[in-house]
Amino acid sequence: MAGQALYRRWRSRTFSELIGQEHVTQTLLNALRAGRIGHAYLFAGPRGTGKTSAARIFAKAVNCLEPADGEPCNHCSICTSINEGRALDLIEIDAASNRGIDEIRSLRDKIAFSPNECRYKVYVVDEVHMLTDPAFNALLKTLEEPPPHAIFVLATTEPHRIPLTVLSRCQRFDFRRVSVPNLLLKLERICAQEGVRARSEALAAIARHATGSFRDAESLLDQLVSFGVEEIKLEDVERVLGSAPEAVVAGMAQAVISGDAGSGLRWINEALDNGVEARQLTREVLEYLRGLLLIKNGGAQLLSVTPETEKSMAAQAEALTIARLLRAVRLFNGAGNLLKTGSHTQLPLEMALVEACLPEESPGQAQRGPGTVAGEPGAVSAPQTARAAAAGPAERRGPSSRTVVSGSQASSRPASGHVEPPPEPPDPPDLNPRLEEKRAIPPGSTKEASAAGETQAPVRQASVSADPGLAWLQENWGRLLQAIRPKSRQVEALLKSCEPLKMQGDVVTLGFYHGFHRERLNDEHNRRIVEEALSGLAGRPCRLESKLYDGNRQEREKETESSRREELLRNPVVREAIDQLGATVVDVQ
Ligand SMILES: [Zn+2]
Repeated sequence: MAGQALYRRWRSRTFSELIGQEHVTQTLLNALRAGRIGHAYLFAGPRGTGKTSAARIFAKAVNCLEPADGEPCNHCSICTSINEGRALDLIEIDAASNRGIDEIRSLRDKIAFSPNECRYKVYVVDEVHMLTDPAFNALLKTLEEPPPHAIFVLATTEPHRIPLTVLSRCQRFDFRRVSVPNLLLKLERICAQEGVRARSEALAAIARHATGSFRDAESLLDQLVSFGVEEIKLEDVERVLGSAPEAVVAGMAQAVISGDAGSGLRWINEALDNGVEARQLTREVLEYLRGLLLIKNGGAQLLSVTPETEKSMAAQAEALTIARLLRAVRLFNGAGNLLKTGSHTQLPLEMALVEACLPEESPGQAQRGPGTVAGEPGAVSAPQTARAAAAGPAERRGPSSRTVVSGSQASSRPASGHVEPPPEPPDPPDLNPRLEEKRAIPPGSTKEASAAGETQAPVRQASVSADPGLAWLQENWGRLLQAIRPKSRQVEALLKSCEPLKMQGDVVTLGFYHGFHRERLNDEHNRRIVEEALSGLAGRPCRLESKLYDGNRQEREKETESSRREELLRNPVVREAIDQLGATVVDVQ
């Protein structure tokens, strides 16, 4: 058994073991008990929700020599041979492969032969939506006149891609995403049986990350088990996922609540220094803010967090108005979109945070625009002034209180009341060197900003380059990932580990930092997913090319980062008023 992936070893062997799909298993069990057995079933639903497991259980149930109340016995010779994967009468076809398509096309000749040892030959066609048109036709012909000994179970993550002619021949069952408590239940069961020690918050994090898929949850657990730690802790899970510690995300939310941009920026930089990606962090912040929104709107039960976390989140939600929360969501969403276009800098994330920390705009403020004179009484809202005063003059000293975002007096002013310096140490502590760089603002450039309208152009231009195809690609990169995500999380992840390099005519070139990532993407199935999504976006057939890219990585990263930063800093809005900038950022989607 050792070495076998957990999700195979822990595959459900009876309908009752199939957690979270009771609406499916009950109906199937009732039919089996009544001896009502159809010839074609469609199991539709997200990946990792138990479709192929259910198909195997069904194959056992219809053939079992000693079934008990509809369930297979798992002991007889038939159940055993199916469990061990050597049953000749259970034919599993992967429709995503060429071989699968050939198999479907040759079905009609083979299907006439009666089963070897079972009552029924069960054909399980996985990812059936991937069949080509001729293969669908062949399948349809078989479904129209099935021999009495044949049963088809078609499994798919995308039922809408299956022709109606085929759908209409099938009994359809929709599998649901598995809820976090159910995933947790299964993980706990596995740990108990395998003698694996794991903290409950660690298992909860795994369950949350698995987004409804047993397979994801179990392979993540598998990965953690293979580390051989004595007890799996939350930090281990976070490390494997490359996700930010819960404290970071909660800390950033707290910074927004108390208008403390300085502390928020420190959280960001600490997380990034520890290897968390800016995009990943932004996603997690958004997920967290969504949680606060849910709580605020009475949807706490939709959250998948531990009770302690829920309690502290509820307190945070209480401290925020819905308007403020929505604004933060919009800001971080805008930052996420900017980061998706391939920018490696954390600047968009930092700007979103700083702006989210600003107090809500009063109508008067909105009209003042970027030209506001520094020191104007209205520039600092009353509570902020009170807090600054209470904190004492020491807080107003030191460069850090004014230069977190920008070094120019005029531009820092709107933020100065809210961007507080770190409370204690007189020595401005860990304002990361990366932040310092942002002070370098060309002098005299403030005059360009006269109207907010002019200020949108520079950010929009950020992605325009000598290669218009590439600019298009960068602009649509986020949409491409979105289109791919439901088809394959793996391919989505692969795309996140490469960089679009070129788009000439219909040929798109991607640069990979690692050979194995490149190989994985070149796998025919994966490649097809990307090419289809690309073609869909571009409105014409596109072809994918890839190359290794490690040689110039450092340089290119620097180059894009600095040019992007320059672009953004050239934007008068950045210099003049952060809130205006946020509006622009949100606009670039
Ligand atoms: Zn049996």
